Formats: sequence, C-alpha cells, structure tokens
Amino acid sequence: MTADRQQMTTDRRQMIARILVVAAACAAFTSANAQKAPVKAPEKPLPAAIGLQRDAAIIAALVDISPARIRQTDSALVSFGTRNTMSDTTSESHGIGAARRYLYRELRAYSRDCSGCLRVEYDPAMIVNARHPQRVTMNVVNVLAWLPGRDSTRVIVMGGHYDSCVCKTNTNDSTSTAPGADDDGSGTSAVLELARVMSKRYPNGLDATIIFALYAAEEQGTLGSAHLAQRLKDSGFKIVAGLTDDIVGNVVAANGKTDSTSVRVYAVDSVPSQSGELARYVWGVGALYLPKFEVRPTFRLDRLGRGGDHGPFQRIGAPALRFTERLENYKRQHLPTDEFTFVNFGYTANIARLNLATVASLAAAPPPPDSARQSRDTLSGGQDWDLTWPVVAGAASYEVLVRSTIQPTYVRVIPVNGTSFLLDEELDDAVAAVRSVGPTGARSLTRVFQQPARRPAAGAAPPAP
Ligand SMILES: [Zn+2]
Repeated sequence: MTADRQQMTTDRRQMIARILVVAAACAAFTSANAQKAPVKAPEKPLPAAIGLQRDAAIIAALVDISPARIRQTDSALVSFGTRNTMSDTTSESHGIGAARRYLYRELRAYSRDCSGCLRVEYDPAMIVNARHPQRVTMNVVNVLAWLPGRDSTRVIVMGGHYDSCVCKTNTNDSTSTAPGADDDGSGTSAVLELARVMSKRYPNGLDATIIFALYAAEEQGTLGSAHLAQRLKDSGFKIVAGLTDDIVGNVVAANGKTDSTSVRVYAVDSVPSQSGELARYVWGVGALYLPKFEVRPTFRLDRLGRGGDHGPFQRIGAPALRFTERLENYKRQHLPTDEFTFVNFGYTANIARLNLATVASLAAAPPPPDSARQSRDTLSGGQDWDLTWPVVAGAASYEVLVRSTIQPTYVRVIPVNGTSFLLDEELDDAVAAVRSVGPTGARSLTRVFQQPARRPAAGAAPPAP
C-alpha cells in the first residue's frame, strides 16, 4: 500500500468515525426530546370482540351443532318437490303442507327430548298475495318453537323461510320443482338445528325468550315474517332482535370464486340505530367464539335490490339483521337448479354456530337501558360530556363504549357502577353507547346516547302546537 493510499484510508476512517459520533448525538438528542415531550399512548384498538366475554356453556353448545343433521333436514325439505306457498297442502309427501308438518314434527320431537321445554305451534294467517295477478288470498303458515326464558316479555326471533319458488319464471308457480336447497332450505335447516341444540343445552331457558321461526311466503314479499313481527308488536312483546338466516350454504360463485370462511351480516346503520348496534354485537360474538370465521358487517338493509325476513322487524323499529353467504350463485337462485348437491353443510354449520353464540349471548344478558342521554358538561367548558341512563333490573353493572364517527365499531370500553358517567371525550367527534352487564358477565346490546332536543333559538317563533 502506498503512503498516499494509506493516508486516504486513514482520512476515510476518521470521517466515518465523525459521522458515527454525530449520528449517535442526534439519536441521543431525539431520544431525550421524545422522553420529555408529552407522549400520548397510541390508541390501542380493541379486537372486534368489544369487551364481550366467553361463556363456557356457549362454547360447549357450539360443539353440538351437526353439519350432518343440517344436511339431513335440507335433504328432507328438498324431497317435497316444491315448497311454494301456494303449492299442495294435503299430500304427505309433496308440497308446502307436507314440509311444514315435517318441521312441526321435528320440533315436537326435540321438545319431547327436553321434557316439553319448547312450545311448538303453527302460526297461520290469511294474507292477500299482491304479487298474484288475481290478488288471491293465501293461507300463510309459519312454524314456531318458543323456548321460554325467565323474562317472558322479551323475545329474540331467530328465523329462516321454508318456502321456495321458481321466481325467475313465475313467483306463483305452485307445481314446478322448486328445491330451494340453498334459498332457503339451508337457513331453515340451520334454525331447526339451533332449536335442537339449544333446547337440549338450555331446557330451562335463558333470561330472554327465544323464538325459532320458520316462515312461509317470504318469496311473495316476506309475508310470513311480517305477520309474526306485527303479532309480536301487537301483543306487547319487546323484540330484542329479529335475525334471519337466508341463503347460507353456497361457497362457490358462478365465476368460480370460492369463500367458505366468511359470512355477510346486513343491518341498517345510522346514529342511532339499534340494528347497527346488533351487527356490532354479532361481529364481536364472531371474533370471540369463531375467530377463524370472518363476520363481514355491511351497513345496509340487504343486498342491492333484494329483501328478507329481517325487513319487517326493521320496519316496526326492532333491531334486525340478515345472515347471508359471502358468495351467492345467481344462476341457481329461484330456479329448479337450486339443488341439494350445491350446499356446503360444513359452511352452513359455521353460520349456525355464529347464530347460536349470538342468540345465547343476547338471551343470557339483561336488557340494555331503555334510554341513554348525553349532554355537554358545562363545568369542564364543554370538553367533557355527562352521560345518564335509567336503572336496569337484572344489571349488576354497566359499560360505556366509545368510537369515533369513522370507526365501524367500539374501541374503548369503560366499566361503570352507577347510572351516570362523566366522559372525557368530545362527543361532537364520537359516538358513545351504554350496555348492561349481568351477574354472570353477559353483556346486553348497546344503547346509543342521544342528545336532548335543542331549545328553539332566541327570537324564533315558538314551535307549532
Ligand atoms: Zn330467500
């Protein structure tokens, strides 16, 4: 090595050393400054489970859901040829009459196995079919099984429709083969399985009453579910949730895409909206009990241009939502090709497990507060908010939940022992809700805080009487 080259290497080493010293000094400066600066802990998002807690009885019941039983039921339903609401009602082997008598017999058998814990009934109504050119009156018969809870005034409705159609050619065709294996043999079979497992696991019921509802005339415009929703409302029941399983067994779309690991949940959401709160609850329950099965909430009533049996519950003001497969096959729905062989019963069973965890969680919990009021806290200069709600019978404590308006679900859960709370968040930019916590840890649906009505502006005309 020449002297020149040696000098150059030495210079370079010294330069690198100086750079390292400067870099270290900069790092030390930054680190010292960071320690001095008021550090706001990053908001740690809660998992979607939003503070719901696992229940050992529910975990045990989930294991009982049997894809083979669901398959067996769907196979029997398809064997009736058509279940169009206007089809034969006298045959024992063909048409909707045979189908509902089969469902009724199955439910009665489950009830016998739990010493009569289920109240099984036909729920008939004579309803005009507005989709028929002669507007004929149809005998629409739902099949219901009630699992009474300690509170007979609060009901959770878990439904699916057992009628089928070849609506793509004629909604009122009462004779052509209409297997309806996916729409909605799959949902009907899932609800029947829920009735079997939940009657076995909870023969004494839970806190709220559960109604397993198998509807007719969904295909003529959700007539059976509309009848039941109105009946419950007219009889003074408080509807905790109107849930429907409709089209819950297909995993392959016509374009070849497949998805067997997620389910869509459709619910209207605005602020406040109890259906949106219900969807967040189902999302939480799914994250808690079926972490590998993705719940995909969609905050609209239904798929575009479509409807289902949660609609009538939404219309009477009850929290309502629909479970539907992630990928539909539009080339088979409402056609003679909606066949048994295309239903994936392992997938339907996972949706039934999600249904079970949702229904049991809701039924085990006390009701949410009837109302929830928020007002700006004047003492703090308006940065904090006063939250109040009435006492709930059966609640051991409460939780306040908070999310920003652009967060889809809650990120903060605050335990509260009384019925008021001073919240250190600006609700101009956020949404807060409250829920009841039962003595066993079961959480109710959330109730969104609402603003008292505004006073009229000074000098404004008084409100019209
Ligand atoms: Zn359907």
